[in-house]
Amino acid sequence: MTRKEYANFLLPNIEHDVDYYEKKYPKRDLDNDSMVVRVAPSPTGFVHFGTIFQGKVNQNLAKNSKGVFILRVEDTDQKREVENGINEIIEALNYFDISYDEGPINKDLEKGNYGPYIQSKRKDIYGAYIKYMLENDMVYPSFATATELDAQRKEQESKKERIGYYGKYAVDRNLTMDEVIEKVKNKEPYVFRLKSPGNFNNKIVFHDLVKGEVEFPENDIDYVLLKSDGLPTYHFAHVIDDHLMHTTHITRGDEWLSSLPLHIQMFQMLGFEVPQYAHIAPIMKEENGKRRKISKRKDPEANVFEFKKRGFPIVAVKQYLMTVANSNFEEWFEQNEDKDIDEFAITFDKMNVSGALFDMEKLLNLAKNYLSKLTALEVYENLVNWAKEFDKDFADLIIREKEITIKTLDIERNSIKPRKDFALYSEIKNNIWYMFKDLFNPENYEWQKITDKDEIMNILDVYINKYYDINDDNDEWFNKVKLLCDELGYASNMKDYKKNPENYKGNVADVSTVIRVALTTSSRTPNLKDIMQILGLDEIKRRIEKIRG
Ligand code: GLU
Repeated sequence: MTRKEYANFLLPNIEHDVDYYEKKYPKRDLDNDSMVVRVAPSPTGFVHFGTIFQGKVNQNLAKNSKGVFILRVEDTDQKREVENGINEIIEALNYFDISYDEGPINKDLEKGNYGPYIQSKRKDIYGAYIKYMLENDMVYPSFATATELDAQRKEQESKKERIGYYGKYAVDRNLTMDEVIEKVKNKEPYVFRLKSPGNFNNKIVFHDLVKGEVEFPENDIDYVLLKSDGLPTYHFAHVIDDHLMHTTHITRGDEWLSSLPLHIQMFQMLGFEVPQYAHIAPIMKEENGKRRKISKRKDPEANVFEFKKRGFPIVAVKQYLMTVANSNFEEWFEQNEDKDIDEFAITFDKMNVSGALFDMEKLLNLAKNYLSKLTALEVYENLVNWAKEFDKDFADLIIREKEITIKTLDIERNSIKPRKDFALYSEIKNNIWYMFKDLFNPENYEWQKITDKDEIMNILDVYINKYYDINDDNDEWFNKVKLLCDELGYASNMKDYKKNPENYKGNVADVSTVIRVALTTSSRTPNLKDIMQILGLDEIKRRIEKIRG
């Protein structure tokens, strides 16, 4: 039996050969320095922050090199796949505005000429390349059962040998074609393993774009390439897909660094051009002085859905991702705040070799800054969108009270130093709730110096009946409060008060705090004159009556 016949026997239903695919996916018509990059998440749980990070990095690389950015879904581990996982990946990328040139648009539709972009739809392709490798004696069927492999591993452990299917342990390497055919006819399940030509005693040196020079022993392990369900392992899918999609730069987690000798070996065996690699460290978190990876279990922020739920402004998250990617981004951003952040070109040499720290404080500051620069209408519209999904009642309220909401969000906004009261859309309600009649049903008031109820009522009554005028500007408004102080025995001038506090019942700050707390319950609010104007006289009076009880 020739190897060809043998391959036909084992893989009878492969429709096309590798030449067909090599022609179907021709070299891309791009400039020499254009990068073809991809993000390749697996739909095996919630969408991890790392996916968004890698997405942003690769989108930026492609954009700045006039290249191509691909989304490829790696769903070959069907045991771990979660319901709706693919859609969640797509939604997360869309939500954070990380658009890709090629890839799935949903589970069934995709864009681009180098697909399918969901690996489980590429079975025929993997089959064709396995068949080719079988014909050329680069792979072999292996029937080792889980129990046998387990026994082998235990033996290797006890003898302190390297773990894996190699050398004398790679017994199925020596099966003859007839023996294989016999087993297949007996319906014994099998996988295809690489027939590794490597020698562990040889060294290979490789230049990683982030890690620099790395040295490894050659791979000599006969890794599984195609599983018994006909789906590839990561190793095989990586080599075939990135070859056929013509990926030029592989940015991936550094947990794959140690597999590099295997991957390079396969590229070379198949006569494929080896891409460039950038292995990036996971984003870390510091806790009790120790660094660790952000983890699904411990850190809610590992899940990108949390960012949506808590209402992080998308632009701020993107700015933050850029600061994580390149240490020199922040400086650029300070000088180019009004530019599109993707005008900054990410480079590999400015990436953190040992793992950037997740800095929530920094992210929140970016968010505060960003929100402070939007117009009130922009904040309003984003807030409505967020609330529609996560706080329906509040959404209804602010849609009903559109004018009040926008006016409120506009307080102290258009100034050189705009207020930075909130970082997240989910924080806004707690900041402005008191502006809405429907929500104003307070139990606690943050009274400060003046707490005597008769005195509070006296201040409020005299003020409203004698001094308050809704048309006053800031200066007039404050002058009136001062006149009120003079009338009631409070110092209208802080200097006078500081010189002789015993001459007064208190000062102008104490008095304005009474008005502030009475109308909002809070001792710290934005401009009180603006708040009062928005509330209107009837509502102000209603609130004063509430305190009278
Ligand atoms: N699915 C792999 C992962 O999530 C992709 C690694 C790669 O980018 O090649 O780790």
